[in-house]
Amino acid sequence: MDELDTFLADRLHAVEDRVRAACARSGRTRESVTMVAVTKTVSAEVAARLPRLGILDLGESRPKELWRKAASVPVGVRWHLVGHLQRNKIAQTLPFVSLIHSADSVRLLDALEVEAARQQRHVAVLLEVNASREPNKHGFPPEELAGVLVHLQDSRHVRVRGLMTMAALTEDLEETRPTFAALRELRDRLRRQLNPPHDLCELSMGMTNDFEVAVEEGATLVRIGTALFEGLPGSAEGT
Ligand SMILES: *Cc1c(COP(=O)(O)O)cnc(C)c1O
Repeated sequence: MDELDTFLADRLHAVEDRVRAACARSGRTRESVTMVAVTKTVSAEVAARLPRLGILDLGESRPKELWRKAASVPVGVRWHLVGHLQRNKIAQTLPFVSLIHSADSVRLLDALEVEAARQQRHVAVLLEVNASREPNKHGFPPEELAGVLVHLQDSRHVRVRGLMTMAALTEDLEETRPTFAALRELRDRLRRQLNPPHDLCELSMGMTNDFEVAVEEGATLVRIGTALFEGLPGSAEGT
């Protein structure tokens, strides 16, 4: 272990302790929550160290960064795309990605279905929901989701796995709780109307600032960057 590995292992322990405590507070098992390490601020070399430290779920917000890092990180990693996907980047993204958290329009979903069929793959997606109803934010308004699910019922290559949201940035953490609770309630209401191969098992919610509240409200995937990588030795992040 060099200095960088020690730093990463310490950070992972600290985040892990907080995830465990949030699970314990809400009567959930630790296994019910997956931590996705969002590597957008670190190099491919740093990302490539994470599997050895037990982190196999890595996330990127930009498709091109995901392709670049996926090419240099050991196989066995599950790559998560957490940011906006432009339709002209679908074809190159599909071979690398395990889960797209950010399906945010019917046009994108239709284009994903066509390209996944062409490549003879399945693609797992989460529907991004603008649960906090902020303008200028990606995601479906909550009231549109029922219609989107009807539209997807015939998709055979796109497989819906759940919902994703981002809470509004706020000083007062408790202000994020209603957003996360609303996403869970929406999921509980909509899941009855879905047939296989679709389901709504996953709730992707919670980032560095608010992941503990998100876990308490039922997150199955938390997306964490800053808490793991801020202050990384020997990088611009450390400055
Ligand atoms: C960057 C990013 C994260 C991680 O955010 P941190 O606050 O650094 O933990 C999570 N989700 C999305 C969509 C992101 O773009």
